Amino acid sequence: MNKAIVIFSGGQDSTTCLIQAQQHFDEIHCVTFDYGQRHKQEIEVARNICKKLEVYQHKIMDVTLLNELSISALTRDDIPVPSQHYDQDIPSSFVPGRNILFLTLAGIYAYQIGAKTLITGVCETDFSNYPDCRHDFVQAQQKVLSLGMDYELDIQTPLMWLTKAETWALADQYKQLEFIKNETLTCYNGIIGTGCQSCIACDLRQKGLEAYLASKENELHHSTTHNFL
Ligand code: ZN
Repeated sequence: MNKAIVIFSGGQDSTTCLIQAQQHFDEIHCVTFDYGQRHKQEIEVARNICKKLEVYQHKIMDVTLLNELSISALTRDDIPVPSQHYDQDIPSSFVPGRNILFLTLAGIYAYQIGAKTLITGVCETDFSNYPDCRHDFVQAQQKVLSLGMDYELDIQTPLMWLTKAETWALADQYKQLEFIKNETLTCYNGIIGTGCQSCIACDLRQKGLEAYLASKENELHHSTTHNFL
């Protein structure tokens, strides 16, 4: 049995990973982490998407301990969510150790259920500058888990080098663009679908969608012209 675990937040990226994984694996287990998000509905959104995509193994892991330790804007209500891009510095939405913890817990779960593949939607290209979303980190963590449990584990990051526009293209390739557009939650202010339209997450998501739709339009135009000639 070809099993995979998808680290699943109910956002655009992890939902795209999930949809892709459904084409390649016989059995999928989604893992959603409850770390005291500002918006609890993230968990509900994740649950709902799993139901709609017929993923029957969905584990919610309580990691609220992170909330006690962390001073990030994503877990504390008194720190504002950043509204602009940060080119150099780590943004205030960074939760230190989050992906180290998530990949470790998901890795333990993988060991327990005998899954050899762990999929996460982390990405280097979205300029969020989180150190634990980088390729080097994921490679190192894979090695840590494989060595520490003496268990061969492959951590796949299908979105690592994709732009947001390319992530939308991937969703479209699987005929799920509308689903992802309407059902996922990426917004830092907790608004599903197109979101609040003013936070950095909404901005990235919207610009990516516009860029993808424009390129698609262009391609269509070109192919029509070509056919006509
Ligand atoms: Zn937003």
